[in-house]
Amino acid sequence: MLTREKSIQGVLFSSEEIQTRVRDLGQQISTDYANLENPLILIGILNGSFVLCADLMRQITIPVEIHFMSVSSYGSGTESTGIVRIDKDLRVDITGRDVLIVEDIVDTGLTLSYLRELFADRQPKSLEICAFLDKPETRQKPVEVRYIGFSIPNEFVVGYGLDYNHYFRELPYIAILKSEVYQG
Ligand code: 5GP
Repeated sequence: MLTREKSIQGVLFSSEEIQTRVRDLGQQISTDYANLENPLILIGILNGSFVLCADLMRQITIPVEIHFMSVSSYGSGTESTGIVRIDKDLRVDITGRDVLIVEDIVDTGLTLSYLRELFADRQPKSLEICAFLDKPETRQKPVEVRYIGFSIPNEFVVGYGLDYNHYFRELPYIAILKSEVYQG
């Protein structure tokens, strides 16, 4: 069993820093999408983004809907496979709607570029991405991300919805995982 004491190297963003940034993102999104004809559609990418979605949604002051899609790209390790599997598709028609994909982290960019193409084919009125964390150093495929919470170095992070082998999603802060945990 992994414990916080054994596995966490240090805190990258405290709960307070996260909440301040989420509030700013919510305000920015509310301003950018003011005066829509229909509610903004948030698409949360499960599992990692569920905590962010809950917080972000409550900081958005315009009408908003939330829907979830479940994809997996990593298996249980820490290296991207480049293969995106859809575990649960959307159950809403996004044709002609304003859509904002909400993702926990963009790393290689493979997941989000795949999802962007997938959703673009469904002909929304507009399509943008909000990723809470960005690792620019490890990008393999360029992807346009309109809203970014924080850019971070190439470290494996957990907490605030992000896991390592299902551990640590519950942390209210974002922390760096010790490399010996995933290097064995
Ligand atoms: P990408 O396709 O951009 O390489 O990866 C996106 C997905 O990889 C994220 O949704 C997330 O599930 C996973 N991922 C990438 N970096 C990290 C990280 O540092 N920590 C965790 N927990 N997951 C990560």
